[in-house]
Amino acid sequence: MDKIYKRRGGNSNLNDPYLSKIDYKDPNICPKCGAVYRNKRWEFDENLIHDIKLKGDYDKKKCPACRKIEDNYPMGLVFISGRFVTKHKNTILNTIKSEEKRAMEKNPLERIIAIEKEDEDKYLIKTTTDTLAHRIGHILHKSFKGKLDYKFSDNRFLRTSWSRDD
Ligand SMILES: [Zn+2]
Repeated sequence: MDKIYKRRGGNSNLNDPYLSKIDYKDPNICPKCGAVYRNKRWEFDENLIHDIKLKGDYDKKKCPACRKIEDNYPMGLVFISGRFVTKHKNTILNTIKSEEKRAMEKNPLERIIAIEKEDEDKYLIKTTTDTLAHRIGHILHKSFKGKLDYKFSDNRFLRTSWSRDD
């Protein structure tokens, strides 16, 4: 992976409007997905949630990922296409979903907003972060070869396309 995609937290959040618009109180538990904000980072941790709830002093604002999903505000798009997609649809979609799960374990704010079917051999995956779009493109290429392309634009938006025709 490129170096910039290894950055997490801190400065890499500067260009994400959903991370800079709201000041989260520490601690905060997202009422929708249960992600916890503490010590300037988001995580999923059942024990931590339990402890925070016991103490009782916490905020209940929705996390940036849940807000992006509600607003349908993607920061990454992955276009997948080709005859291979029609033939191996389930395998491909499962690969994409497992990659989301792996990404979420490290950073709960990385989510798939939607997987939209545009045609038999064409899908569009919308993600809450550019990083997740990058990861999905990377894993598809690694798993199934094919053609991969990244188009970066300002403001941390990434457009990825992956295709395979045979
Ligand atoms: Zn949430």
